[in-house]
Amino acid sequence: MGVVTRYAPSPTGALHIGGARTALFSWAFARHHGGRFLLRFEDTDRERSTSESEAAVLEALDWLGIDYDLLPGSDGIPRQSERSEKYHGASARLLDRGHAYRCTCTLEQVEAMRERARAEGRNPGYDRSCRNKGIGPESPEPFCVRLRIPDGADPVRWDDLIAGPSGIDISQLDDFVIARADGSAIYHLAVVVDDHEMGVSHVIRGREHLSSTPRQLLLYRALEWEPPLFAHVPLLVEPSGKKLSKRMAAASVQSYRDRGFTPEAVLNYLIRLGWGHGDREILSATEMIELFDLEGVGRSPSQVHDDKLTWLNQQYLRTLPADRLLAYLRPFLEAQLGATPELDEGFLALVELLRERSKTLEEMARLASFYWVDQVEYEAKAARKFLKPELAAPLTDLSDAFNELARWDTDALRQAFDDVLDEHGLKLGTLAQAVRVAITGSSASPGIFETLELLGRERSLARLAAALEHIQAAD
Ligand code: GLU
Repeated sequence: MGVVTRYAPSPTGALHIGGARTALFSWAFARHHGGRFLLRFEDTDRERSTSESEAAVLEALDWLGIDYDLLPGSDGIPRQSERSEKYHGASARLLDRGHAYRCTCTLEQVEAMRERARAEGRNPGYDRSCRNKGIGPESPEPFCVRLRIPDGADPVRWDDLIAGPSGIDISQLDDFVIARADGSAIYHLAVVVDDHEMGVSHVIRGREHLSSTPRQLLLYRALEWEPPLFAHVPLLVEPSGKKLSKRMAAASVQSYRDRGFTPEAVLNYLIRLGWGHGDREILSATEMIELFDLEGVGRSPSQVHDDKLTWLNQQYLRTLPADRLLAYLRPFLEAQLGATPELDEGFLALVELLRERSKTLEEMARLASFYWVDQVEYEAKAARKFLKPELAAPLTDLSDAFNELARWDTDALRQAFDDVLDEHGLKLGTLAQAVRVAITGSSASPGIFETLELLGRERSLARLAAALEHIQAAD
């Protein structure tokens, strides 16, 4: 049988880092085995599920490059809210076969049972009051449907592909509800019906669902369906080992994108949250598919490190093909400049220089924005420190020298600098910083000669002239 995995988000918000990692593991596992990776929206919480959230999840997966398959013969992603008949069918089947029964106990009664059990030191479960009452569908009182867990049933055990041998003693479970009084299915039933119908072979999901597995396995048993294999992915924690802070846990894929991380870096970061292949840090999507396996997923919680993501992002900013990098950069430039810039040759050269010194696309766009401005805005501190009156004369001489250069390239520019430095007895650092502030507004930029070269003579001269005016005005 082929491998079929699924990712089953509840569309109640953006795709967060934990969910994205679960989706990635499921995807990489399916693709590694040449299998199918399916999606399903678990939108039974009608109050909180929205189509915007569905769209946000799909957009995030698409941005990460995680593609999914549709069920044969279907043209959309299944939603639990549209499948109630299927769940109803399963519940009817369990009732017919005596594996489930109707229960008319009210919530208050069940709560009182639990209280009593707690007080007597017993398991606070449902006390099976209705189990043998034979309540039929015609009951005038509202009823829910409960699974009948046979006395002396075999323990529920499974070999979790990540957590290892798992299971519980059946006496720890009570006859749990599978359908509510309004006929709607309880989550466990819906998941089991869906996974079975979708032909899911491997359920890869977060550790928080491990405690649901025994109930779901009991449903498989009662429905006489072959259960899938389970793999529960460890939790995410802070680097200190503490529970993930709300801020980090809520970090959505979109927020990483908006902060200027590339999809390659985020994908790479996600796969390394709990999975490793030797000491490989950098992995392309193709390599992930080639190498991913569940054996490589550790059992302990994975630490979320923003520094690690930043480091990965830097690696990708250095190495991405130029056209892809520019496509990623464009929205950040537009946000910086408020307009769509023309990506001319000088700018392309600047991006090449900025690859080495940018941590994020946002930073790269910020460092690059000086290229287009009509009027450089000086960082106040940099201007005070470097655009000083005593530099007016050397800057004027440098402008004159620039004007006369036969060629506008780094060698010629270096020579012009050397001449002025000699004449005024200055160090390169002092003059270079003043020029840097004059042409970029900031005291941090790539090499000054390269920066001047790509900016071009005309714009460089205009910016030097403006800086000289600034010095005079401030004097
Ligand atoms: N809907 C659940 C969630 O969003 C997933 C449950 C499952 O994967 O079985 O966490």
